Amino acid sequence: MGGSFIWYLGTIGKSKGIMLSSDLNIHDEVDRSDLKTLDTYKSRLAASDFKGEWIFSNPSQPNIGVDRYWKLSDQKHWFIKCSHCGYERYLTYWKKEGVKRPPHYVDEDREIFACGKCHKELSDEDRRVGRWVAKYPGREISGYWITQLMCAWISAKEIINTKKTTTTEYFYNFVMGMPYASKDVSIDRGVISRNMTGEKNPMTKPCAMGVDNGVLKHYVIGNEDGIFAYGATEKWSDIERLLKRYDIMLALSMRTPILRTQRSSNRLIGERSSLATSKGIGIIWESYNGARTRTSAWSIRIETRPWIGWSMIS
Ligand SMILES: [Zn+2]
Repeated sequence: MGGSFIWYLGTIGKSKGIMLSSDLNIHDEVDRSDLKTLDTYKSRLAASDFKGEWIFSNPSQPNIGVDRYWKLSDQKHWFIKCSHCGYERYLTYWKKEGVKRPPHYVDEDREIFACGKCHKELSDEDRRVGRWVAKYPGREISGYWITQLMCAWISAKEIINTKKTTTTEYFYNFVMGMPYASKDVSIDRGVISRNMTGEKNPMTKPCAMGVDNGVLKHYVIGNEDGIFAYGATEKWSDIERLLKRYDIMLALSMRTPILRTQRSSNRLIGERSSLATSKGIGIIWESYNGARTRTSAWSIRIETRPWIGWSMIS
């Protein structure tokens, strides 16, 4: 084509494409592709000055495939204006209350698309005529969030029906264009058994401990070579013993509303003096997403994921 070539190649199975070099890779359905092969295609751009990559996909799970690129992108949302009150915002399914600038939403009772501000019906024309607004302007990767709500030929009633008759995962991935973390999909027996080894942890590397705070405290202890101890206890003194026994370099626990244990957990984990082991310190950390902190040896970013739970974060 004008002295150039277009190659159509797959990612499943062995591909000759690995031998080709390219200026632009266009990937369709990234989340349903073999991600390792996809990485190999990236290497094919090395000789190019342009090094272009276009990634298209229905998302699957958070932080996998297209969602990774989305998070790094400028995150363009389709902004539409309510023809009744002029309020301009993007459209999502769920009505959001208590936020400063609520998005437009789907009203299940009235079976309409509704304005986030005046709650009157948004017309098909309102949905069609909009503009892309980047949440993070200036980022190098240009990302577009596309949902079925943007399709003027699909009614609110159809969207509601799809939601009622399909799985949550399907609705997120294929209707809303959003990743979805299902408990069963993310961590199943297979994932766990694949990560188990018959080798004994030599326990020579620095150890970290995670404690799920509560009346019953679940703990997990591990290092770079894997997890080697876990259990549960009601006593903070047991936790303290473990901290010393394994010379824990970093312990993480969560602040909880259980006041009776709060004081002792603060004493043990919040204050360096009573917890400090020879190698490190412990911290107590509010559990909220994106929190960051730093100690002399560790850089920590808290990412709470309900299906993994606290212990794996630590
Ligand atoms: Zn309005």
